[in-house]
Amino acid sequence: MNAYVAKVLEELRAKQPWEKEFLQAVEEVLSSLSVVLDSDKKYEEYRILERMVVPERTILFQVPWADDKGEIHVNQGFRVQFNSAIGPYKGGIRFHPSVNLGILKFLGFEQVFKNSLTTLPMGGGKGGSDFDPKGKSDNEVRNFCNSFMRELYRHIGPNTDVPAGDIGVGAREVGYMFGQYKRCKNSYDSVLTGKGLEWGGSLIRPEATGYGNVYFAQEMLATKGEGLEGKRVLVSGSGNVAQYTVEKLIQLGAKPLSMSDSNGTIIDPDGIDAEKLAFIFDLKNKKRGRIAEYINKFPTAQYHEGKRPWGLVKADIAMPSATQNELNGDNAKALLENGCMCVSEGANMPSTPEAIEAYKSAKILYAPGKASNAGGVATSGLEMSQNAIRLSWSREEVDEKLHSIMRSIHKNALEAAEEFGTPGDYVNGANIAGFKKVANAMIAQGF
Ligand code: NDP
Repeated sequence: MNAYVAKVLEELRAKQPWEKEFLQAVEEVLSSLSVVLDSDKKYEEYRILERMVVPERTILFQVPWADDKGEIHVNQGFRVQFNSAIGPYKGGIRFHPSVNLGILKFLGFEQVFKNSLTTLPMGGGKGGSDFDPKGKSDNEVRNFCNSFMRELYRHIGPNTDVPAGDIGVGAREVGYMFGQYKRCKNSYDSVLTGKGLEWGGSLIRPEATGYGNVYFAQEMLATKGEGLEGKRVLVSGSGNVAQYTVEKLIQLGAKPLSMSDSNGTIIDPDGIDAEKLAFIFDLKNKKRGRIAEYINKFPTAQYHEGKRPWGLVKADIAMPSATQNELNGDNAKALLENGCMCVSEGANMPSTPEAIEAYKSAKILYAPGKASNAGGVATSGLEMSQNAIRLSWSREEVDEKLHSIMRSIHKNALEAAEEFGTPGDYVNGANIAGFKKVANAMIAQGF
């Protein structure tokens, strides 16, 4: 490891040892950069790594709200504005009880590199709260979103910071937050992406992360002369990313076998088809039900309480699309033993370092989320462009742009990996390609 990388990592570990996910993300990226830093000393001279591992600004605030009985609750709100070298901060908002500063720093840090890879002018950020929308009424969610935005509105704007959805934040939450921003600011700004179609949203934005991940997997498979047709695929999660991953897999002739939520996993040996997916859309997006209910409707499927999909059945491809560190070293071993030849991440950092090591030693195709799930933020970038020119592109136009961006990300990552001596290593390729653009912009802009 390059001495500069080792020094920065050591200092960071000493400063915030409790921010485990953040340290994990930084270690993964910095470990890829040794070869770049060895070949060009300017990054060390300008202290680029030290500046990249500290957010430009972190906002922490209280979010008081009242439930339906009038009882008052207080949650923590955060926005981590990580890096604005190549554009306004851009990244989702997560509402989940596990949210803390370390998790949002990991997500914001990853977002910097991901956004750079999209080829669009977007910096990186992330925000959220430890609020749990599960089991809350619409009224309670609206109360919470209003209170969250009552503070956040003063720190964001179309040229400053443009949040979007993430875990626990979908169309409903984006709508409430946009409404509150507009009331506070008295301005109809393009300040959130993932908006409703009637009020500034983009076609294909809900689909984009899942579709984009499938397009990326297709590109990887093509390097081995393979395609998706007939491939057996394990997908985790049953939220936004998982649903549209399964939809695109079905359209392209693959056979998705699983979906999950935080309670368990369903395995459908016959494959999830369009009719079964329609049931899941209704169950998850309208009824806000649990994935276990799938087997009541489709009894040939099995439900595995408390389990994740990995290794439960033979599969060619795994597309983890739920949350961070959901696939560990043992899970990776089980996947490999069951014939898995490709892992394409829909979630952010779903594979632990041990799992990644296992993929690498088995030399299977492996795409890190920052490359393969970048289609969501890329389409958010397209939503910002449409808002700026006050025009809406058709479904086909946006899908074609998304597809072309995913092809470019794949090509850039592959070329950077090749140039720096690790052909076929999408982790190194994505990290290096993402890093160079941001680092060069930081140097050009001084400090
Ligand atoms: P959703 O909230 O729509 O869905 C999340 C899904 O993952 C749900 O099925 C949820 O189950 C499950 N899940 C969440 N936490 C856990 C956990 N700790 N253990 C097991 N299952 C869990 O979120 P998204 O689909 O939007 O996001 C999924 C992943 O994709 C996240 O990592 C996110 O950061 C990433 N991502 C999302 C993008 C987007 O455009 N939405 C863009 C790029 C990345 P339950 O309902 O039981 O909680």
